[in-house]
Amino acid sequence: MRKHYEFILEALFEGAYIVDKDRRIQFWNRSAEQITGFSAQEVVGSRCSDNLLMHVDERGAELCTHLCPIAAALEDGNMKEGLVFLHHKNGHRVPVSIRIAPIRDENGKIVAAVEFFTDNSTLYDLSQRLRELEALALLDSLTGISNRTHLESEIEASLQEKQRYGLSFGIIFLDIDNFKDVNDLYGHQVGDMTLKTIAGTLRASARPFDTFGRWGGEEFVGIIKNVSLSQLQGFAERCRTLIENSTVQADAPLRVTVSIGAALARDRDTVNSLIRRADTLMYESKRMGRNRVTVEREPPPVDAVYGVGPI
Ligand code: GH3
Ligand code: MG
Ligand code: MG
Repeated sequence: MRKHYEFILEALFEGAYIVDKDRRIQFWNRSAEQITGFSAQEVVGSRCSDNLLMHVDERGAELCTHLCPIAAALEDGNMKEGLVFLHHKNGHRVPVSIRIAPIRDENGKIVAAVEFFTDNSTLYDLSQRLRELEALALLDSLTGISNRTHLESEIEASLQEKQRYGLSFGIIFLDIDNFKDVNDLYGHQVGDMTLKTIAGTLRASARPFDTFGRWGGEEFVGIIKNVSLSQLQGFAERCRTLIENSTVQADAPLRVTVSIGAALARDRDTVNSLIRRADTLMYESKRMGRNRVTVEREPPPVDAVYGVGPI
């Protein structure tokens, strides 16, 4: 005879199933059939540890064999919640939110567990898509490193950190030397490959808390955290050398150089004023013959000349 609670579980929109202490499935409701494609007849009596539903987490780790949340609930008597992906009878994966509760007998002994699960496909699709769009909006489509929008917001955030907590940072502004010649001599496609090679070198040489991005065209910007002027100069020199020694894998291996300007952020800087200083210093490197780094000669005394007059 059907038990009272089974009628309640049958009426739920959520998938619900009950396992005994051995994790053998005792009950499987209609929503569970709809969400998984498996009928009650197919699953009741088998053990969920037989890996029928083959739950995996977001990284693909199999949960049923050694990380089973039902086993954990049966063991420690606590409720479990999470997002997992179960295996539909047709083979595809279905994202579900799960909640597992242990069931106790009148003496308080754990005798079974119930799992409720909700199909999250639409919600998951939307949030996944949103994450992808967010990433796209902040990445340069050609090189895959940060785009100008992201760089601007990172500089803005770094300026605020500097104001609040006194954390120093600097900007390095890089412009490829004679890049027009690369395009003219080897074609636009090789030009694009050159941009990707430089982006790859910058990304690989960045420390985890620094950000490199493409400012536009053939210009790149690095945001270097927690540095003195001489350290900033050291980083800029390293970038210059690494780029000079990178090879673009075109028909004939090709090398390019960059001119760099490097400036430390000042207290009253804005994104524009800071970038403008680094850009002006970069032009000084061009004027001096290219493939070189120019930094501010002296750290600013008390920011008195910020924004006006000579750097
Ligand atoms: P300089 O050493 O003075 O910087 O000389 P330059 O030739 O690098 O400077 P210029 O500003 O005259 O040329 C920049 C070139 O960059 C022109 C433009 O065609 C090229 N460029 C800008 N964006 C892209 C891009 O996305 N792909 C390719 N292939 N070329 C680009
Ligand atoms: Mg340029
Ligand atoms: Mg250039």
